[in-house]
Amino acid sequence: MISSKLPNVGTTIFTRMSQLAVETGALNLSQGFPDFDGPQALRDAVAAHINAGHNQYSPMTGLPALREQVAAKIARSYGVTVNADTEITITPGATQAIFCAIQAVIRAGDEVIVFDPCYDSYEPSVELAGGRCVHVQLGSADFAIDWEKLEQALSPRTRMIILNTPHNPSGALVTRAELDQLAALIANRDIYLISDEVYEHLVYDGLPHVSVLAHAELYQRAFVVSSFGKTYHVTGWKTGYVVAPPALSVELRKVHQYVSFCGVTPLQWGLADFMAAHPEHVEALPAFYQAKRDLFCDLLDSSRFTFKRTPGTYFQLVDYSAIRPDLSDVDMALWLTREHGVASIPVSVFCQQPVADQRLVRLCFAKREETLREAAEKLCAI
Ligand code: PMP
Ligand code: GLN
Repeated sequence: MISSKLPNVGTTIFTRMSQLAVETGALNLSQGFPDFDGPQALRDAVAAHINAGHNQYSPMTGLPALREQVAAKIARSYGVTVNADTEITITPGATQAIFCAIQAVIRAGDEVIVFDPCYDSYEPSVELAGGRCVHVQLGSADFAIDWEKLEQALSPRTRMIILNTPHNPSGALVTRAELDQLAALIANRDIYLISDEVYEHLVYDGLPHVSVLAHAELYQRAFVVSSFGKTYHVTGWKTGYVVAPPALSVELRKVHQYVSFCGVTPLQWGLADFMAAHPEHVEALPAFYQAKRDLFCDLLDSSRFTFKRTPGTYFQLVDYSAIRPDLSDVDMALWLTREHGVASIPVSVFCQQPVADQRLVRLCFAKREETLREAAEKLCAI
C-alpha cells in the first residue's frame, strides 16, 4: 500500500468532464479552452522556427526576445516598467509557475490563504511544500473578498495569500480599492502574494483589469502569473510566465530550473515574433470575447437558467435552481451532459465547504458561434 502524499487528490474535474463529453458526444463547455485555433500568423511563426532549427533548450529564464515582449506588453497595459532580465521568467504554463512560486517560499507548517471557489492546482501545490491551505469563502452573490473572514483567517503562520483576478470560475474582478485594503491588511506581516492573472486580458463592459503589477506596495511581495495559453487561444502550448521582484525571481528560478529548466523553445520564438508584430491582438481581446459572452447570454436569456453576465474570464456561471433544485451541482453537470448534451463544470469542486443551496455550474464560452448557438438551443430546451 502506497502512503500517498496527496491522499485527497483524484483525477481533476476538468479531465473527468472532458472525458465524459467525448464519451457521450456532448458539446464540451466544461474544461476551459477555445474550440477555435490561435492566430494563423502565430502558428506559422512557430512552424517556421521549428523548421529553422530552433529546437534545443532555451535559456533557463526564458528566451530574451520573449521576455522583452512581455515587458513591453506590461508597460503598454499597466504603465509600469519591469526588468525583462531580472523580473520575468518564462515557464511551461501558469500551473507550473504557481507550483514553483509556492515551492520557493512555503515551508512545512506554513499557512496559505486561498479564496473559495479556488482553482484546483493551488492546494496540492501547497501541500507538497508541506504547507496547509486556509480557505476563505468569497461572497456567494458577488464573489468579492469578505474582509472580516480574511482577517479572521490570518495567523502568525500565514506565509502567503493567493489571489485570482479575473476570477475562475466567477469572472469577478478585484478593484484598486480592494488591493489597497489588502496591502494595508498585510503591511506589517511577512506574507507573500501570488496573483493569478491568467485571464488578465479577458475583461468586459469597459472594466479595467487591476493588476498587482501596477500596485507598487503589493508587487514588492508578489509573484504575478499569466498564461500565453489564454491570451493567444493556445491552451495546449502550456506556456506562461511569472513576474516578480528580482529577489523573489531568484528564488523562483531556483525551483523552476529543476522542475523543468526552461520552456518550449520554438513556442517562445513564435510568441516573441507574434507579439512584436501584433501588439493589437491583446487590445482586441476584450471585444472579441465580450461578443461571445453577449451572444451566448442573449441566447440563454430565454432559458430557465438565471445568471448575471460575467465581467471577466471566458466562463459564465448559471444558476439552475429553477430547473433541478433537487440535484447537487456535480449531479447537475452529469445530468446536463448525459441527458442534454452539454458538459459544464460544477462550482462546488472548487470549494472546501460547498455553499449550502448554491446551484451553480460553469459554462465556457470560448467557442465558435455555431457551438454557442447549438449549446444554447439545447440549454433553452430544458
Ligand atoms: N490559473 C487559473 C485560474 C486557470 O484557470 C488556469 C487555466 N488552466 C491556470 C491557472 C493554468 O494555466 P496554464 O494552462 O497556463 O497552466
Ligand atoms: N483552467 C482550465 C479551466 O478552468 C482548465 C485547466 C486544466 O484542465 N487543468 O477549465
